[in-house]
Amino acid sequence: MHRRDILKTLSLLPLAATSIPALAGGSTVTPVPGESPINGLSPDTSGAPPAAHRDLFAELGVTRVINANVTMTFLSGSLMLPEVLEAINSTSHDFANMFELQDKVGAKIAEMLKVEGAMVTSGAACAILLGTAACITGADKDKIKQIPNLPGPRPEVIMQKSHRYLFDQAVTTTGAKIVEVEGPDEMEKAFNDQTVMALFFNAAEKHSIPHEQFLAIAKKHRTPTFLDAAADVPPVENLFKYQKMGFDLVTFSGGKMIRGPQSAGLLFGRKDLIEAAKLNHSPHEAPIGRPMKVNKEEMFGMYAALKAYLERDHEKEWNEWLATAKHIAGILAPVPTLKTETVVDPGPANAFPSLAVDWDQQKVKITPKDVLKTLKEGNPSIVAGSHNDRLLIGVVLLRPDQVDIVAQRIKQILEHAV
Ligand SMILES: *Cc1c(COP(=O)(O)O)cnc(C)c1O
Repeated sequence: MHRRDILKTLSLLPLAATSIPALAGGSTVTPVPGESPINGLSPDTSGAPPAAHRDLFAELGVTRVINANVTMTFLSGSLMLPEVLEAINSTSHDFANMFELQDKVGAKIAEMLKVEGAMVTSGAACAILLGTAACITGADKDKIKQIPNLPGPRPEVIMQKSHRYLFDQAVTTTGAKIVEVEGPDEMEKAFNDQTVMALFFNAAEKHSIPHEQFLAIAKKHRTPTFLDAAADVPPVENLFKYQKMGFDLVTFSGGKMIRGPQSAGLLFGRKDLIEAAKLNHSPHEAPIGRPMKVNKEEMFGMYAALKAYLERDHEKEWNEWLATAKHIAGILAPVPTLKTETVVDPGPANAFPSLAVDWDQQKVKITPKDVLKTLKEGNPSIVAGSHNDRLLIGVVLLRPDQVDIVAQRIKQILEHAV
């Protein structure tokens, strides 16, 4: 269920205790919408939050969930930044030409990311599909009309065997087939007239061909390269790293730690390929990407999210995460035999701190798995994680007002098992 379980086996680096700053003024994580007035902005843009909120969760009987884990698609990704909600609200009262909007938002994003071209897609999975389609069709109108049913042999996309993952179905959806290679020699031999692209899964467990070598071999065969880095911020530098390295196309999810709309993503890189990707996308009416529409508000929202993300004080945010972990550890400390450790996932996906919690299961007679189950079934419902028979409490997606709730609830469950 968890993305990290599907994609890779997590290994965690313990964080030196000395690098954890003292908790200053209670637990503070980046303010998240939910309580902010912006969230209640009425459509008439009067600016005043409505007196009574309509509680749609209650109206539909949908469970509110506290995410003490990492961003997960089934758990609605991330929470949009106030800047994103403001962008969505403030742009929802006027029409725009979607061709123009995609071009202008894309140009701005490209400028921000120091790259030739960019566009907003309906998530990173859509970006993989559109990038592949672009490499197959270029600007050829007939091909755009025909995929995934092009005449002749299927287009081929080269991938390392160890990079095969769930999301490569977005490649084969275009009609392309994946050619698996292991190591540089096999990669060298894999190119032929059908080869259209080489795909690199950045967060794979193992690279039998490292980034630079992969790029060099693909360039030698004049084949475009695509890097999937969907969940690979923080650090913010990753948004610049891979185009600089030489990848022709790169994708990041909008709805993970960039905290844009969940159904938005970034595709950027070579200008001609971005233009070809746009030809394969909505608002054009026939192409393969037409069912993967991005609405106007999400385009503005994605731009606002990226801008806010780039302008953020990332060091401050990191220290706040550490402070939150330390604060929770403090609340849990009285539980007999309990040990906590702030751990940082070495990434590149989900490279941020969590709190790992351990106890003597002879004395506190409950397994981490059962703690997770009790948390999930409780009120409020809390989703935390586990790794190697340790409870893992994610801190980066907690609203400030949820930190104590999560800590107290876990403490209560553990103490109940003594
Ligand atoms: C999350 C993820 C995707 C899909 O991203 P969406 O934005 O949800 O479409 C693709 N690849 C990887 C590696 C991911 O982690």
